[in-house]
Amino acid sequence: MTEKLYFQSEAAELLRLMIHSVYSNRDIFLRELISNASDALDKRRIEGLSNSEYADFSPQIRLARDAERRTLSISDNGIGMTRDEIVNYIGTIAKSGTREFLAAAGKDPKAQEQLIGQFGVGFYSAFMVAERVELVSRKLGTGEAWRFDSTGDEFYSLSEAERAECGTTVTLHLGPVGEDGKDYLDEWTLREIVKKYSDFIAWPIVMQCSQWKDGKESFEDQTLNSRKAIWARPESEVSEEEYKEFYRHLTHDWREPLKRVMLNAEGSVSFRGILFLPQEPTLDLFMNPKSGGLSLYIKRVFIMNDYEELIPDYMRFVRGVVDSEDLPLNISRELLQEDPVMRVIRRSTQRKIFGTLRKMSESERDKYEKFWEGFGRIFKEGVVQDREHVETILELCLFRSTALEGWTTLAEYKSRMKEGQEGIYCLCGKEAILRSSPKLETFSEKGFEVLLMSDPVDELIVANRETFDGSPLLNAALTDIETEEERKRADEAIKALEEDFAPLKKLFLESDFMKPLISDVRLSTRMKASPSCLQDGEGGVSIQMEHLMRAMGREFEGGKRVLELNPEHPVVRRLMELAHAGDDRAVDFAPVLYDQALLLEGGTVSDPGTFAKKLSALLEIALEA
Ligand code: ADP
Repeated sequence: MTEKLYFQSEAAELLRLMIHSVYSNRDIFLRELISNASDALDKRRIEGLSNSEYADFSPQIRLARDAERRTLSISDNGIGMTRDEIVNYIGTIAKSGTREFLAAAGKDPKAQEQLIGQFGVGFYSAFMVAERVELVSRKLGTGEAWRFDSTGDEFYSLSEAERAECGTTVTLHLGPVGEDGKDYLDEWTLREIVKKYSDFIAWPIVMQCSQWKDGKESFEDQTLNSRKAIWARPESEVSEEEYKEFYRHLTHDWREPLKRVMLNAEGSVSFRGILFLPQEPTLDLFMNPKSGGLSLYIKRVFIMNDYEELIPDYMRFVRGVVDSEDLPLNISRELLQEDPVMRVIRRSTQRKIFGTLRKMSESERDKYEKFWEGFGRIFKEGVVQDREHVETILELCLFRSTALEGWTTLAEYKSRMKEGQEGIYCLCGKEAILRSSPKLETFSEKGFEVLLMSDPVDELIVANRETFDGSPLLNAALTDIETEEERKRADEAIKALEEDFAPLKKLFLESDFMKPLISDVRLSTRMKASPSCLQDGEGGVSIQMEHLMRAMGREFEGGKRVLELNPEHPVVRRLMELAHAGDDRAVDFAPVLYDQALLLEGGTVSDPGTFAKKLSALLEIALEA
């Protein structure tokens, strides 16, 4: 029975784009299909490790040509796909960024061409060269095979098929040779493409090739790729293009890597490898703290992908390969974890990454800032996770600051510190509102620079009271920067207002709105332009910390806060007058002052309707005065 199924709409659109594009580099279709075949072989090999029934097989990728039918097929004896997997992986695109890609490609052929070149187009690239694409696949451990067949319209057909062993065969029905004269059935064309894009593939890519002997042509299997591990070849012999292809194969990332680092350790433990810093994070890097890791090879044999033990959690954005000569091939995952060789590899890989980042920050600042924008908030987790290297990590951290638009290091901050500064002032909160926080007002008056920190982990860094190069990181929200003299004067000023303030304080404290929220209301000279702000109460927890706790899934009851009012502000003055005159309307404005302070902390107003109404009423009273 043959079923007709529709491609998911993004998939259909991407396909249409591929087919109608005039993309000049059509050769990449082979790279994509070989890459899929190679992944499928890796997966099958891994299955074989835990199930001896599957262990015995000779992995191979085979290219086969049929000149009469004008077909080229790419077969593997890898893991294969079930019917559902074909529907989910081939009929659907789950790749993040597809929608954006399609939107950006628009209708402009030039833009489309550029974007196709960058976007990992995967299986669909087959449609750039084929009029019709067939795929027959049989999943490891199952008896049935399935045939996918499509000409790249909105639908494809799916039917039961026969296949002697597990694996996948993709058959491309090539059209007539195009204007460029390139024929993908030509032996030398295929050889060249494999050499260029897939030489490092570890599995043999085999094709029947022609041999002339005594004027007679015969055919024999030849392996087209050298299968040499790219990290084992001298750097001078590998082109940048090959490294990029390898990165692409490894990560499926369509962008070029931001940075490449070679590992080459010889000594008591010897290992080699390549590390890459990507340009931008993938979505799951943030969603899943266990994502990432490096591929582990032992003596050139692929052992596993995404091995997180090779790298500390907070460096999980680094991609790459580590290949060791000093580990036994058949070691179990449990033993591997405890092997002292692993510890050595992990430590020296980590050192290498620190070194690379330091060099980048010193001599390629733009690149480093780009790295930081993508991965800084993951790297910073190291301050909490890796106490041994706190100094090094803090040295590499970049922060936003009141002194400049861009990024600053802590060392740069220190070089700008003014006399009278007791440490490095930091304010945590939401990025969009930090710069307008009332808590910065006294600092800016004194010309003190404050670091603006908006990542969840910043809260912990500041709460931990870290020090950097002898200077403590101080929470600006909790630090008094007044001199003794100023403090005395302020105290006196507030004392003088005490009597005027008492009725308002009483009204506020006794109001039903305030009772559950605040532990005290007091006048403060810390603000210059704002009427009110919230301070964390004794032993209290800041709003950001509350968010953090909730984000980590902890039930969290926020502590009560202290509402501080600015006696210089006309609104506060007016409310004091009203309360003093026995006008109870003043109490209605407690929620407004509270909520606007909350907004500035990045909190949300509990009841926006009431907030807006009271705000208008407050304006009216203020205008009456
Ligand atoms: P990508 O390889 O970037 O994930 P593709 O469109 O090329 O995107 O492939 C989608 C998915 O289809 C793959 O992730 C894989 O799960 C499956 N797939 C493709 N080709 C094969 C194959 N030869 N053997 C097994 N699975 C395959």
